[in-house]
Amino acid sequence: MRIYLDNAATTPLDPAVLKAMLPYLETYFGNPSSIHTQGREARTAVENARKTIAKLLKCSPSEIFFTSGATEADNTALIGSVFSLGVKHIITSPIEHHAVLHTAEWLQKKGFAEMHLLRLDEMGRVDLTHLESLLQQYKGALVSLMHGNNEIGNMTDIAKVSVLCKQYGGFFHSDTVQTIGLYPIDLQKLEIDFIVGSAHKFHGPKGVGFIYINAKNKIEAFVHGGAQERNMRGGTENVSGIVGLAKALEMAYAEMDEKRLKIGSLKRLLAHRLIQTIPNILFNGDCMNEEQSLCHVLSISTSKHEGNEMLLFNLDIEKISISGGSACTSGASAGSHVLNEIGIDPDRGAIRFSMSKYSTEEEIERTVQVLARLFQ
Ligand code: PLP
Repeated sequence: MRIYLDNAATTPLDPAVLKAMLPYLETYFGNPSSIHTQGREARTAVENARKTIAKLLKCSPSEIFFTSGATEADNTALIGSVFSLGVKHIITSPIEHHAVLHTAEWLQKKGFAEMHLLRLDEMGRVDLTHLESLLQQYKGALVSLMHGNNEIGNMTDIAKVSVLCKQYGGFFHSDTVQTIGLYPIDLQKLEIDFIVGSAHKFHGPKGVGFIYINAKNKIEAFVHGGAQERNMRGGTENVSGIVGLAKALEMAYAEMDEKRLKIGSLKRLLAHRLIQTIPNILFNGDCMNEEQSLCHVLSISTSKHEGNEMLLFNLDIEKISISGGSACTSGASAGSHVLNEIGIDPDRGAIRFSMSKYSTEEEIERTVQVLARLFQ
């Protein structure tokens, strides 16, 4: 049996989600824009999914728009803010996902907006004093800060950031991809302009996600074409994907507290066993801070070792799937921008473990033993 510890990259589809999706691939195949019975069946499924998601996040269904995933949703938040809300300055951090960083860089390169990067401390935590001074300087800026970092697990206090943004009249977007379905987000209490989610991160299908756009923000269509998604995103809806997204989120909410506890205790066990077993191990960023780091992500640097280059490959041969830096950019020759930014020596080996509800203590133990053998 393979051990899968790469759940920040993607999670396995829950069989109950697949079961909910299948009728919309086999029986209810109508186009939601068609007015006949089959079309109306598909339309009902899409709108019910929207209502389910809105109820879980405590917002209005009209504030949820389906997308092809979080990359599209992040692009929409940034580009929509610049083109429709008059945003001229984007304040973000150097350790955001490329879906945010590359979009902000593109907007700057084309002369549509200026990008400002926040200072980080030695643990990779965002300097909120710097944020406050930039918000003061650039009135009406968009702040884009992720809730949980996919590579090192650092969490941002989005409630605090939202208060600062409100105080200085800024807009706030948070990439909540790694926390949706794992941490409660209550949009009645949190004043935020945009959050995003991607189904495959919480045991749903790939290629489907959503953006929450606060009703006070009117942005123009982000994909031009048909009248789908209330004229905001043309293109026939991914009906089975949308049904799977809603089912996966519903299940994630039902098991959220129990799941966080279970995964958190696996992370504690893993850290403890790694300290006991692997010499000179370092924990990257703030991932050992139980309060302010993702319960499912543990990022380590190993000592300089001749086997480092082949580490992930050797783990794969041992039937253990784990990532180095970010799996989202795997295959790219450049190392992880996040580890570079927090000053991790590139000669050390970097491993990101990420657990899910399916992970077990036995898997953690076997992984540590294999690593110990590789480091002998
Ligand atoms: N943002 C974060 C924090 C992620 O971890 C990912 C992962 O891939 C994305 C955005 C992109 O999501 P998607 O695969 O849905 O485009």
